[in-house]
Amino acid sequence: MNLGYLAVPSLNDTALAIPLAIKAGLGEYGRHGMVITREFGPRVRFGKIFTNAPMAFDQQIDFGVTKFCEKCRNCTNACPPKAISDNEPSSVKLNLSSINGVKKWSVDGEKCFSYWAKIVSDCMICMRVCPYNKDFTKFRHKIGLRLAATKLRGVMLFLNGFLGYGERLKPKAWWNGETRKKI
Ligand code: SF4
Ligand code: SF4
Repeated sequence: MNLGYLAVPSLNDTALAIPLAIKAGLGEYGRHGMVITREFGPRVRFGKIFTNAPMAFDQQIDFGVTKFCEKCRNCTNACPPKAISDNEPSSVKLNLSSINGVKKWSVDGEKCFSYWAKIVSDCMICMRVCPYNKDFTKFRHKIGLRLAATKLRGVMLFLNGFLGYGERLKPKAWWNGETRKKI
């Protein structure tokens, strides 16, 4: 703005953030309806600024998420109200809360938010169980990320389940001061 260009800040308003984030090359779309990034997996929240300032822009990226999601169903299986698709991407509008005409995995927002209302909290189990929900600064997870982008993605999925990633902390461990599983 100080440079003389228009600048309109926006979080979850004014336009959908996810399609713009994908177009901007920040990550890929996951079955659970979130953007999966290379750096932080699905643990991101986007803000955006609409501007008429000229700038360079990135291209969409592909690091194997779509193919991995075709194989994986962790989020679908773990979602308590069964709000996440088990099927192929589709452009069919699920209900008033979803959009028409875009072929994708759609999350049933009405089922999801009804569940949040029922438990009087947010949920995000789908984020927790996602195999991309890892600390990618660690070498072993970097290897997993590479593996997920190859034909050996099934191995990554198997190891993910075998090693117990995404498991919930036992209440006793939480009361003893642990805040997350050591993975
Ligand atoms: S937040 Fe919970 S209820 Fe909503 S889609 Fe994810 S797992 Fe399902
Ligand atoms: S849990 Fe599996 S299917 Fe769901 S978004 Fe993550 S990788 Fe894709």
